Amino acid sequence: MYQKQIRNYNRKITLNTLIKNEKLTKKQISDKIGLSLQTVNGIINDLALEKVISEEELADSTGGRRPVYVNLIDSSRFTFGVDFHSNYVRIILANLKSKIIKDIIIKVPQSDYKKGHFDKIMGRVYSSVEKIISEQNISEDKILGIGYSFPGIVDEKRKLLIYCPNLFIKNLDFSKYERMFSFPCYIGNDANLAAFAESKLGVAKSKRNMVYVYIVEGVGFGIIIRGKLYKGHNERAGEFGHIIIEKDGKKCICGKRGCWNAYISIDTLISDYNRSSNHKIKSLEEFIELLKLKDNKAKKALEKYLDYMSIGLINLIMTIDPYYIIIGGKISKIGSSYLIKPLEKKIPEDNLFIKKKDINLLLSKLREDGSVLGASLISLKDFLYIDNYIS
Ligand SMILES: [Zn+2]
Repeated sequence: MYQKQIRNYNRKITLNTLIKNEKLTKKQISDKIGLSLQTVNGIINDLALEKVISEEELADSTGGRRPVYVNLIDSSRFTFGVDFHSNYVRIILANLKSKIIKDIIIKVPQSDYKKGHFDKIMGRVYSSVEKIISEQNISEDKILGIGYSFPGIVDEKRKLLIYCPNLFIKNLDFSKYERMFSFPCYIGNDANLAAFAESKLGVAKSKRNMVYVYIVEGVGFGIIIRGKLYKGHNERAGEFGHIIIEKDGKKCICGKRGCWNAYISIDTLISDYNRSSNHKIKSLEEFIELLKLKDNKAKKALEKYLDYMSIGLINLIMTIDPYYIIIGGKISKIGSSYLIKPLEKKIPEDNLFIKKKDINLLLSKLREDGSVLGASLISLKDFLYIDNYIS
């Protein structure tokens, strides 16, 4: 058993090296990862048999023995990511390097969620995935798995959707959809998955400690400690959105009043603007246009929004003391100059608890793609990841 684990570990290190570098000789791989050439040879032979890598002999100008380069075949394996939102579902097909090959949106009327027609929604997901597989002409044994991202509390191991308020889902046994496809199925929380994706592919690549603030229709958080996602004893950690910041304040989607979530969701920003203006808007995109036109009412609504955002962020800094705070999800469309720069100014100057220089506020690189890419990454955990996906 122990031997098998070591072999698996060495194989993953080799694959990770090949993902980061193009064209390496076996000798270079062996030097980079500190394994004997014989071990590397064995691994490369296995990977060649599985058609995950190709070997290429290149001409050498010195006239000596021609070096053989090892290449990872990006399209040798695929993963699916499915991201559920309150009025649409996004499905992506990604290759081994997490490049999005196919990206589709299925519009879902909110009434389907409200009436509990989840089977119908999953039926549409099924047809879309099948269509992608046939269009892309992929054999199913090359698909490592499908990951589903949900805005809410999920039990990953038992595949239960415990509570997703935006989708009107409570205690839904998702395992009944497990055998919908021949490849493995995984589920996860959207903010956790987005945080994970950001730490693997985005602005927080190889950063060990961070809190990820994920703002779409609702608000979610992902905590990464020492490179691993911290989920808590009951997989419920990071529900900062429901920390009360105003007594008897605004009504939150959870039923309580004054939750941080009720002040920093995109809907709040838009409805705040609409209350002050006769020109009513529906989307964040329209709001961003107004900001660019230097609309005063839009600026004021954003100012108020950022005030509430900074109150919560300071609480977060006090609780976790993270090295990085990353803001991602749909809200990141607003951009750094309207979002990150003013927030930095709102963080108080040095005091007993906070040293301003220790706070690194960053805009997500993956932006809206975080959760769906995170969902597609879950299927790579046995194939590629060395650190445990979940602590
Ligand atoms: Zn709440």
